[in-house]
Amino acid sequence: MTWNPTTGCDKISAGCKFCYAEIMSRRLQAMGVEKYKDNFEVRMHEDALNIPYTWKNSKVVFVNSMSDLFHNDIPLEFIQKVFKVMNENPQHIFQVLTKRADRLSELHNELKWTHNIWMGVSVENEKVKDRIDFLRETNAKVKFLSCEPLIGPLQNLNLEKIHWAIVGGESGRKTRPMKESWVWDIRQQCADQGVAFFFKQWGGTNKKKSGRELGGRTYDEMPVPMVVESLDSSYYQ
Ligand code: SF4
Repeated sequence: MTWNPTTGCDKISAGCKFCYAEIMSRRLQAMGVEKYKDNFEVRMHEDALNIPYTWKNSKVVFVNSMSDLFHNDIPLEFIQKVFKVMNENPQHIFQVLTKRADRLSELHNELKWTHNIWMGVSVENEKVKDRIDFLRETNAKVKFLSCEPLIGPLQNLNLEKIHWAIVGGESGRKTRPMKESWVWDIRQQCADQGVAFFFKQWGGTNKKKSGRELGGRTYDEMPVPMVVESLDSSYYQ
């Protein structure tokens, strides 16, 4: 399930090269969808803020699949509104992913971090490993890495205070290859440091065909035990 209280972004690192959100925004604009009339310009959508209150059952929600919540053009006041919605809907798990880990680090003390907010940073290659350090120091209760699209090796990862790592290759018409050895290396580092490991896909031009098995099995670990331990009673209300 996705929820997009903001839309639009611009490219910040190598992982953005074939940005899915940019391609989709262009298509949605061409189809005349009002929310995307400004294509990929950063926009805030006040009317989208009430959507999570209307969902009947608990959901796992990917926040801002079409944007980056910590983009510089999104004021703190709006980010706080998005957090208020997440705070007031503890029945849902909200996964927020950013490449602007430096801004996340600047603002995290101004935000209320309930247990249902899982905060992640994208780490596609060695150059952006410092995003993990920014994430580590935040007040987020659940912290994860999205190593997708993985376009280079990630060695000597410090996974202290990190609960979950997702790894995946790039998919689409043009893709950059992911070496199997890079994936195994991350898997081993997760095992050594007690971090849940989720292998999402090999990607490529036919991601269904390439599948998501690693060494003949799938890896679907989730940071759930840690989350259950840390829940307070309000989570269930
Ligand atoms: S940060 Fe995310 S949404 Fe923004 S351009 Fe990069 S890949 Fe696209």
